[in-house]
Amino acid sequence: MTVSTYKQQRWSLTDLFPAFDSPEVEDAKHRLEKQLQAFEAFRPDLHEEMGAEAFLSMVIAYDQVARLLSRLGAFGSLAFAEDTQDQEAQIFKAQTQQLAAQTENRILFFKLWWKSLDEGPAERLMAAAGDYRYWLEALLLEKPYTLSEPEEKVINLKDVNGTQALVTLYQSITNRYTFQVKIDEEVKELTREELRVYVHSPNPDHRAAAYQEMHRVYAIDAPILGQIYQYISRDWRSESLDLRGYKTPIAVRNLANDVPDEVVDTLLSVCQENAALFRRFFALKARWLGVDRLRRYDIYAPVVKTEKTYGFGQAVDMVLESFRTFDPRIADLARRVFDGNHFDSEVRKGKRSGAFCATVEPDLTPWVLQSYNGRLDDVTTMAHELGHAVHAMLADHHAALTQHASLPLAETASTFGEMLLVDCLLAEDPDPALQRDLLYRQMDDAYKTIMRQAYFALFERTAHDLIHQGGSVDDLSETYLANLQDQFGDSLDLSDDFRFEWVEVPHFYFAPFYVYAYAFGQLLVLSLYRQYKEEGELFKPRYIEILAAGGSDSPARILEGAGIDTHTASFWQGGFDVLKASLDRLEAIEIPM
Ligand SMILES: [Zn+2]
Repeated sequence: MTVSTYKQQRWSLTDLFPAFDSPEVEDAKHRLEKQLQAFEAFRPDLHEEMGAEAFLSMVIAYDQVARLLSRLGAFGSLAFAEDTQDQEAQIFKAQTQQLAAQTENRILFFKLWWKSLDEGPAERLMAAAGDYRYWLEALLLEKPYTLSEPEEKVINLKDVNGTQALVTLYQSITNRYTFQVKIDEEVKELTREELRVYVHSPNPDHRAAAYQEMHRVYAIDAPILGQIYQYISRDWRSESLDLRGYKTPIAVRNLANDVPDEVVDTLLSVCQENAALFRRFFALKARWLGVDRLRRYDIYAPVVKTEKTYGFGQAVDMVLESFRTFDPRIADLARRVFDGNHFDSEVRKGKRSGAFCATVEPDLTPWVLQSYNGRLDDVTTMAHELGHAVHAMLADHHAALTQHASLPLAETASTFGEMLLVDCLLAEDPDPALQRDLLYRQMDDAYKTIMRQAYFALFERTAHDLIHQGGSVDDLSETYLANLQDQFGDSLDLSDDFRFEWVEVPHFYFAPFYVYAYAFGQLLVLSLYRQYKEEGELFKPRYIEILAAGGSDSPARILEGAGIDTHTASFWQGGFDVLKASLDRLEAIEIPM
């Protein structure tokens, strides 16, 4: 075996700036000020009859400001992530955040003017805006639902002490909760985050105790928390439907994601039709855990964990090799992150935890941070973050304003990258412990991100209508239980304490209907993966086209351009077929006695 050339190291940020107090930083701030003054000087030229060329140069100037600001901001935030104890980094980060807020305020007039334009002039200017077209179009999406300026002002003002206050109250009430759980004869006082650890415990008693305590505490305030939810839902409806003219409560979120209503409806009903797949998975998990039937408390129970570890160089080679089997270009792009020393993989004190990929602007290779510990999870995380980097680099011919994929497509390359790696590992390493681990991870993740979130969204859809028809908090709890029964069937024991789980989901309060985006993104990638498996070479250019589009068009149009119709149930079903194949494989692995 050849020795890998990749070493675990700290990244270099010199492609941004040499140091906090360098003349280059001063120069960048100076240039930013000059750019801003030039941009502000354009202001008197803004007119609905202005020339397309003058308009385009203004958008380009906006893009230039965004790039420079992003470089300065990234230097602060990446240096801080590299060492959160570095006081110079803390100060630089705070200063650039302030600079960003000031800059934002100085260029805001442009967006406000743009949104105030009539359709005719807006169409004319967009037609001449080239790559910036969709960025401009997206700013106008909500225009048909926008009210007059005084009305918008009143809503903004009243929201602060209205819905926003309700959300704050919900947080204030629930953040004070403490949970008492008896663990090995000792009563522990835990926060919700700490409690969550026990939900994943290998000990069945700990799992049950954690859930029961969570539901017990929330149930005490359920009448109040449920009321807060009702007010938020009524406000959402009266503002969005009665005043703004949206057709349904969920349509507000669909428009924000720029995904057609019918596509979301199709996605949710296909998820519902596939609930049986996870029922089968829970039955299998019960057999692995040596019980007749799972309780709802057990669905996140760990089954097995491989002890295998991977050296850093070995992991990089594996990830790049799995990318190469798909397309050498993808591997070459990922390699650029290492070659430019943009990958911080060391384990150090003071370094930010977790992993991320930061795309600064189209002219710069993205930076990736991870604390690499050699576990299987670390290898898949590496593939995930490098997938993000590849996505950004394939879209680097776009402007700063159009490079980033929007929410529904944001996890495409990252999840696909993970799947390429997992497929390679499954093909190359026959160790049953590893196979089991990989397949269980895939099914557990799919449950959490697809099925659970889709059923949450289905509940929200029913709940908003129910509240409108005068449904009580008890009615909502009954509806929630029915939603869970529909999801689980008789695949597990669903205890009655889960009726209050809905008041425990903060997303329902602060971002109604947000949750389906998780299911959308994950299932989309699985469906694309199935097309890849079926079509092989034919699929590759279409996939690369999707990534290369970045954020230069709406998600639906980007996918349509690559011949994918998200309106059809068969497309989404393709994602479940991938999961079904994984489950078949998992069921074929023998249980050790
Ligand atoms: Zn990601």
